[in-house]
Parts: sequence; C-alpha cells; structure tokens
Amino acid sequence: MPQTERTSIVSGFYKLPIEKRREFVTQFSNLTQEDLKSFSSGLDLATADRMIENVLGTFELPLGVAVNFLINKKDYLIPMATEESSVVAAASNAAKIARVKGGFSTISSKPLMIGQLQVLHVKDVVSAAQNIMQHKTQLLALANAQDKILVDFGGGAKDIEVRILDSPLGHMIVVHLIVDVRDAMGANAVNTMCEALAPILEEITAGNVRLKILSNLADKRLVKATAIFDKEKMGGDSIIDAFLESYTLASIDPYRAATHNKGIMNGIDAVIIATGNDFRAIEAGAHAYAARTGLYTSLTTYHKNKDGDLVGEIELPMAVGVIGGAANMHPKAKLCRKILGISTAQELAEVVASVGLAQNFAALFALSTVGIQKGHMSLHAKNIAVMAGAQGEEIERLADQLVQDGKVKLDYAKILLEKIRKKS
Ligand code: NAD
Repeated sequence: MPQTERTSIVSGFYKLPIEKRREFVTQFSNLTQEDLKSFSSGLDLATADRMIENVLGTFELPLGVAVNFLINKKDYLIPMATEESSVVAAASNAAKIARVKGGFSTISSKPLMIGQLQVLHVKDVVSAAQNIMQHKTQLLALANAQDKILVDFGGGAKDIEVRILDSPLGHMIVVHLIVDVRDAMGANAVNTMCEALAPILEEITAGNVRLKILSNLADKRLVKATAIFDKEKMGGDSIIDAFLESYTLASIDPYRAATHNKGIMNGIDAVIIATGNDFRAIEAGAHAYAARTGLYTSLTTYHKNKDGDLVGEIELPMAVGVIGGAANMHPKAKLCRKILGISTAQELAEVVASVGLAQNFAALFALSTVGIQKGHMSLHAKNIAVMAGAQGEEIERLADQLVQDGKVKLDYAKILLEKIRKKS
C-alpha cells in the first residue's frame, strides 16, 4: 500500500495480510529493520526474570494497531495489546467519524502525583497540622534530595497539603506530598520521597507515621479529550437522540456506569499495556475518579451542539510514563512508543484519553443502533470455529457460515464443521 502523505487514515487495513500492515506502520513511523524484528520476538527470559519473581516464561497478547486517529491535528497509529475482539476495530471506526469534524482535542494538567503519609497518635492534630505547614520548605527540600535526576528535569516535590481525617481510631493527619514526576509514572519516585519524610514528620508532630505511599487517585494529573461526532456520519438526528438516551443511564446509574466505564478501559488498558504502563494504576485512578462525587458515574459526557452534532468529552487521571518501570525494559513497549511517535508522558496521556473516548463512543453508537453483538459476532465466530476444531481456511469459512445462519454457538459449529469437511 503506497503512502503518498503521512496519514493514519486507511480503509480496508483489516483486510491486508500482516506483512502489508507492518509495511504501512514501518513507513508511517519510520521503523527500522531492527524494530521490525521486535514484532515477532517475545520478551526474552532474562529480562522477564528481572521484572518479576519466580519466572517460568512469558505470556503473549495480540498486538494490533488502531488507525484513523487525528489528535490535536497530528496523525497517530495507536498500538493496542488486548485479548478482546472488536476493540481495535471499534476504536478505528470511532476515530474515522471523529476525523470529519477535526478529530480529538486534548488538554492535560502537569504530571503531579500525590504521596500520602498517615500520621497517627497525635495529641493535638490542629497545631500539629500547622507545625507541618511551617516546616514545608524543609520537607520539600528533603524530598527533593531523594531524586536529583527528577529535579534536574524540572520535576520534584512541589507542595505539601495537610488533611485531618476522623476515623474509628480517632483523628489522624494525612499529609499529601505533591510531586511533579515529569515523564515517569512516578510511583517509585514518590514512595521513596514519602519514606524519607516519615522520621522528620514524626518529630514535627510527636506522632507515628504508618502508611507512606503514593495515591492512585491521581486527581492532580488529569487529562481531558473532546471530539465532535458528525451528525450525518452517525446517521442523523434520531440516532444522536438514541445515543444520548443510552448515555443518560450511565450518568445516573452505577450498574450501567460500571459497564460503560469498562468499555472505556477496553481501549485505555490496551494502549497502557502496549506502552509498558501499569494498567492497575490507571484502572484504580479511573474508577476512584468516577466516584469522586459520591455517586459512581460515567467518565464521559455527551451533548448535542447547535449544529446537531454530538460532542463527547472524557476526563480522568492518567498516571503514565515513558521512562521507568516496564516502559523502559520491555522491547515491545519501546517499539509501541516509536509507532506512536511520542516522547513525553503528557502526550501519551492525551493519546490514551482520546482512545478512551473513541472506544466509549463506538460502544454507545453500536448499542444505540444495531446492538453490540453484531460487531462482536464475526470475530467471536472465528473463536467459536477454532473451539469447534476448525483449522486453516476452515476457520474463516465456518465463521462466515455461523454468522450468516445467526447461530454463533459451539454445538452448531461442530455440526457445521463436520458437514463442511464431508463436502470437501
Ligand atoms: P522509576 O523509579 O523506574 O523511574 C523514575 C525515575 O526515573 C525518576 O525518579 C527519575 O529519577 C528518573 N528519570 C530520568 N529521566 C526522567 C524524566 N524525563 N522524567 C521523570 N523521571 C526521570 O519509575 P516510577 O515511574 O517512579 O515508578 C513506576 C513503577 O512503579 C511502575 O512499574 C509501577 O507499576 C510501580 N509501582 C506502582 C505503585 C502504585 O501504582 N501504587 C506502587 C509501587 C510501584
């Protein structure tokens, strides 16, 4: 497929053989022969053995690439690692519709993470809290002495906040250390700083410091993505109305919001995993943020604008890094960052939020029109075909027949496979 200009918009990408898809990505992202080898090679055992304990081997996931994304007027191919069918296709379709009105626009706050120190057994919590604030400069300097590299990059501990919480154990002080972690996810950096502050906090408060660890509710490290979804492309006014009706349930009901947000995380986690980031941290932050008002609700909002188009927005914490953790160790994570063409954590955060919005739009669009199963069925049918024992070309043939017959079921697949084999 010759590329005349650098664009992520491709039609029929899914129909190409894997080699041709790799060719396209190679041209788009200026990959080298060495990079190309990484597509086929797995994580080497020595690296895996350094990453976790008791290693036996590695565990593979399919790695795909979502096409059509235009974010802040820049084209992106988005690597996604996931075991779930339809996720990559849905993101690509949503990105195609969003493109009509200019794609995704994003903004994000500074990469500020929060470290918590829990101070117990303090006699007078109010004057102890004041005392902590009076020692702010000294505390920040001590925190920054733990990570000269981070400070050299313009990051480091920037602020201290003190909260007094009532608990079954009585009043306790919770100190928040606010750290600019630049291009790191920041957990290790923040935890190290918190541990260093504990002894001096015990002196200042005459209390005992128990917990000293990062909070995954990274609500000072937020990212927002918006997109306008074209009315005509969506099929008209009545579809947008149906879409908004579907969305409304997620905004008021935690039972629906949980599934709605799970759909968002289908896209987000896939990029987070592909780029070697911590998906549990992102999940924890997202869901805690969704419940910040006391009612667990949707991470996205939608409304109709004056032209009758659909406007979607997502806002959530995004503690991602392009340095540190697995992001630096896993060769495929490096390759995926190269495919994305990103070099800062902030840009990665903005791309990830856009994918979350795209994924959510695609799911609600399907739910409001044909239903979710239609899109899922053709890939699901392939899985069922394999489970029924189909091999090679049989898989495609059997899957197509299952979808055509509207019976994507294992028992039926086995019967049909026997018939196909008898015929040929
Ligand atoms: P890290 O400690 O491996 O790397 C960050 C360090 O890299 C910084 O402290 C800094 O010294 C250095 N650095 C160099 N260039 C930098 C730049 N441009 N910007 C920022 N720092 C730069 O990694 P981390 O991000 O502190 O920790 C992430 C890891 O911690 C992840 O693997 C995560 O799974 C794990 N973790 C998470 C939690 C949690 O989420 N609750 C808790 C513990 C550990």
